[in-house]
Amino acid sequence: MSTIDDNVFTFRKPINCPWCNHTLTAAGDVFEAGAKPVAGDTSMCIECGKFSFFLGTSELRKATYEEFRELVRDPRIMLAWLAWKQTKIEAHHG
Ligand SMILES: [Zn+2]
Repeated sequence: MSTIDDNVFTFRKPINCPWCNHTLTAAGDVFEAGAKPVAGDTSMCIECGKFSFFLGTSELRKATYEEFRELVRDPRIMLAWLAWKQTKIEAHHG
């Protein structure tokens, strides 16, 4: 069983995923602990795994296909996505 380092999830303003409408209750920066999201930051939905961009601290917009292709070129983003995928698979079969 894994635990979440609470320090990573310092930003606690509910925001809805523009893809699946899941309410994200906290945002965590996987690269910089404690960072607050700013406009233009990338978000990955913990529910559906799709990418969005922060328009501010309370609104997200869907990433376009072109932006998605650009994002997954970043190995850190790819690793974050693969970790999410692995967690989803384990949740289904674990
Ligand atoms: Zn979602």
